[in-house]
Amino acid sequence: MKYGIMSDIHSNLAALESVLIAMEIAKVDKIICLGDIVGYGPNPNECVERINKIDGLILAGNHDLASIGWEDAEWFNSHAKEAILWTEGQLTAKNKEYLSHLPEVISQKDFILVHGSLYHFTDEYIMTGATAKKSFDLMKHRKLLLIGHTHYPATFFRKQGQLTEVSPIQNLRLTDGDVLRLSNDIQSIISVGSVGQPRDGDNRASFGIFDIETMTVTIKKIPYDIKKTQGQMVEAGLPKYLISRLAMGR
Ligand code: ZN
Repeated sequence: MKYGIMSDIHSNLAALESVLIAMEIAKVDKIICLGDIVGYGPNPNECVERINKIDGLILAGNHDLASIGWEDAEWFNSHAKEAILWTEGQLTAKNKEYLSHLPEVISQKDFILVHGSLYHFTDEYIMTGATAKKSFDLMKHRKLLLIGHTHYPATFFRKQGQLTEVSPIQNLRLTDGDVLRLSNDIQSIISVGSVGQPRDGDNRASFGIFDIETMTVTIKKIPYDIKKTQGQMVEAGLPKYLISRLAMGR
């Protein structure tokens, strides 16, 4: 069984289409989407409709909730807020309805899925050992937590010995081609980065392949038509900073 893992599409249809094609080529059986289908980019309805067609495990992110009025946009920075208000005005009633039914956490036998963290499902960023620890403790016996939200491919992990003995939390940043081997004595939190607004300095769309048989997660980065998305953002009148950051991957 192979899962294609993606997160933070942010209304970037060109990036989403490229990732879906790459996942088809990689022969994934099921898609996991860790939230933030919309926000920032020019194609909110197209992205929701594309994801809606997928038979997968799909979560809500903070931008999805803010764009349907369920989370206060005041909490976002000015560029994000401007894009959220624009998105709210664009989304059809049907697509808002779809976003309103997405779960904030999914727990399966082999893993847990959440946009932010187990401490706060949609809003907390796991960027430090201290925030990772809070979620590790809430995972209890479970070994793998897949997250989005940071737009940054990385992993936190810690070895678990007998009884309650645990070793210190370690952290690795990840890039294209990196393969993480999961095992029963290691607890891992993994972010595969962002499809539609990468922030790790590499402007390519980021995603992951989780192979249950080999117990590996592989990070993939692929180019997409950035200029196409930027052109659509100019036409939509979205903030200049959000347009330029796509090319920088920051
Ligand atoms: Zn995001």
